[in-house]
Amino acid sequence: MKRRRKKRIPMNRSQMMQAVHSENTKPEVMVRRSLFKAGFRYKLHRHDLPGSPDLFILKYGVAVFVNGCFWHQHGCKFTSRPKSNPEFWNEKFMNNVVRDTKTNWALSLQGYRVATVWECSIKNDFEHTMELLKTFIKSDEETIEI
Ligand SMILES: [Zn+2]
Repeated sequence: MKRRRKKRIPMNRSQMMQAVHSENTKPEVMVRRSLFKAGFRYKLHRHDLPGSPDLFILKYGVAVFVNGCFWHQHGCKFTSRPKSNPEFWNEKFMNNVVRDTKTNWALSLQGYRVATVWECSIKNDFEHTMELLKTFIKSDEETIEI
């Protein structure tokens, strides 16, 4: 599980390495490899863009987020809620969901297109998920959630 979006505080080198490491989740790496194989070139974790997208495909102006269903409260079967401390978690999850919405808006306002890929889609049918994502990237659609 990852906590992708952090407060913008200056980090020293080793903190930076840790932060980068925690961003490279397995589903994220799978998506990345598949896109690279298909010829797409991207930048990772552009901290200068809203929400620091997991991937940013410059040629198409597409930001890709690979979202963990738990942290981003997808509402699927992987979206369990911890039993202890419900208030803490409710607030935390609410903040995450609100932040995601704001991030998507901010990117759209800057003229970028946004793809949200859920962890469960990757687990359920990786090939199909990637087909949808690749088709979206080359399209002129504004946004997609897979
Ligand atoms: Zn899900």
